[in-house]
Amino acid sequence: MNIILMGLPGAGKGTQASEIIKKYPIPHISTGDMFRAAIKNGTELGKKAKSFMDNGELVPDEVTIGIVRERLLESDAVKGFLLDGFPRTVEQAKALNEIMAEQGRKIEAVINIEVQEEELMNRLTGRRICETCGTTYHLVFNPPKVEGICDIDGGKLYQREDDNPETVRNRLDVNIKQTQPLLDFYSKEGVLNNIDGSKDIKDVTIDVEQILTNL
Ligand SMILES: [Zn+2]
Repeated sequence: MNIILMGLPGAGKGTQASEIIKKYPIPHISTGDMFRAAIKNGTELGKKAKSFMDNGELVPDEVTIGIVRERLLESDAVKGFLLDGFPRTVEQAKALNEIMAEQGRKIEAVINIEVQEEELMNRLTGRRICETCGTTYHLVFNPPKVEGICDIDGGKLYQREDDNPETVRNRLDVNIKQTQPLLDFYSKEGVLNNIDGSKDIKDVTIDVEQILTNL
């Protein structure tokens, strides 16, 4: 079961990933975790990646791809994996296909959780945080009893800089631009499964399971 999970920020990828690994014996492999592990274990590639990151440079594809290859060869990933955050480009997707082919495997499904940009804006700009105790609220999903005020201690709620509409819009637009060629690539490969992520979380999970059951 070799699966890639895709979705824009706010689409609910993290939630669906944790549901999937509860039900299937495959590891959830995210790019961030992979890098952290390679650096912590001091592998050759980990050291290389770290030197680029320490200099504030992008880690080149060959290093990233090498780290992915090593990770996918570990024993827990031999029967399958849920890959998250990789590939980001068509070049990386082609490299991943080669890694799979070396091992006599292939990517069986790409699950793309689709949510309209305006809905993502609502989800991503609604977070409010108490300046006193740090409790997180959401204007839509978990609103405070009194607008702008923490339920627990009456502290004032503020919005993080990262959550302001302009920043969020920009982040989404960059992501959409990056992702589209990848979706086109996997569509041509015949493995792309688009899922309606605007539904209730539970219904999205049911749709994901439907796809995995049919693999
Ligand atoms: Zn508070």
